[in-house]
Amino acid sequence: SLVTSKGLDHVGASAISRMMTRVNALKRGGVDVVGLHVGEPDFDTPSNIGDAAIAAIHDGDTHYPPMDGTPALKDAIIAKYLRATGLHFDRPEVAVTNGAKMMIFCAFFATLRPGDEVIVPAPYWTNYVDIVRMMQAVPVVVDCPAANGFILDPADLDDAISDKTRWLMLNSPGNPSGAVYGRDELSAIAAVLAKHPHVWLLADDIYEHLVYDDAAYTPMLGVAPELRERTLTISGVSKGYAMTGWRIGWGVGPAELVTAAAAVISQSTSAASGISQAAAVEALEGPQDSVAAFVSEYRRRRDLLIDGLARIPGLECSRPDGAFYAFVDVSGYFGTTTPDGNAITSDVDFADFLLDAGRVAVIPGSAFGSGTHVRLSFASDESVLRDAVRRIDEACGQLR
Ligand code: PLP
Repeated sequence: SLVTSKGLDHVGASAISRMMTRVNALKRGGVDVVGLHVGEPDFDTPSNIGDAAIAAIHDGDTHYPPMDGTPALKDAIIAKYLRATGLHFDRPEVAVTNGAKMMIFCAFFATLRPGDEVIVPAPYWTNYVDIVRMMQAVPVVVDCPAANGFILDPADLDDAISDKTRWLMLNSPGNPSGAVYGRDELSAIAAVLAKHPHVWLLADDIYEHLVYDDAAYTPMLGVAPELRERTLTISGVSKGYAMTGWRIGWGVGPAELVTAAAAVISQSTSAASGISQAAAVEALEGPQDSVAAFVSEYRRRRDLLIDGLARIPGLECSRPDGAFYAFVDVSGYFGTTTPDGNAITSDVDFADFLLDAGRVAVIPGSAFGSGTHVRLSFASDESVLRDAVRRIDEACGQLR
């Protein structure tokens, strides 16, 4: 084989990109597919943010930026975490990357040796386990059942920690679960980490803006500031500000770790686009009313989707507190048969059937470590979601 990197031995195209390929092929063939498989805002980036990027271009802000982020964006990030946690970070404790994903990659590249373990609560964002495997390290998956609100049980965490554990991944609000950790849940996890000083925390807060009703985003360092010396907090502008294409994310943590991550940036991407960084400064420091408008729109869509799914027999789904996904238990249909005589025995069978018979694209839960569920995104407008519910209902009605 041409590809001989050990890091790629166990990593291929994700289930999500496979679904994208299938959906695109169907669409090219003229089939009208309702795509609820994509994990990105359908909104355009607010115009004040775009204008800041245009101004940066006109101001000649088009040269190589500093590798680990422009001072203006770092300062905006520092101000943000001072507001959120009361903690002051210095510029060497902040690095800007091409999206939050790149920061996770840099942090793992900088710290993981073959055989090291990373604890990943399931359901999880697929890329965590894949990036861990790319480093020839080992994802240790801890199941967080729907009955527990998809929240990590502190006792299960304690059991999963070994002397090889390097990191605990924590993602709140969570993709795909929508679970949002509250203060008490975070303190309970911090109490376990207090007993194991060799375990670091990677807090992926990328969905921090997208919380609904009474749920509130709580950063771990706001609850357990004593973890500061071993916590890397990751976030970015992709989800909250509808800026997935601008590719700006960041990590905030101990200077030694952030400096190591910057070395990875230096040897790979050199820096995140300076134009996008200027836009991200406006996102963080400019008016926040677009975020509020996005959140109220997502909440309406969530309720429409969840209420619609609740009327379909055999599907189980709780109302997520955050992010923009419904994570639906479809195991009630395992053991049924399609009109063509095919058995539904797994999440993958169910998702394939929904695509073939219902022309609705969803992601099988096994991509996220949960083979009883499928993930639907509600980052689509209400008419699309209504149509999706109708199609899912009709498709499910054909299963016997
Ligand atoms: N973390 C989670 C949980 C995500 O769902 C995503 C995007 O899907 C990311 C990180 C990456 O975001 P970015 O676009 O900033 O790389």
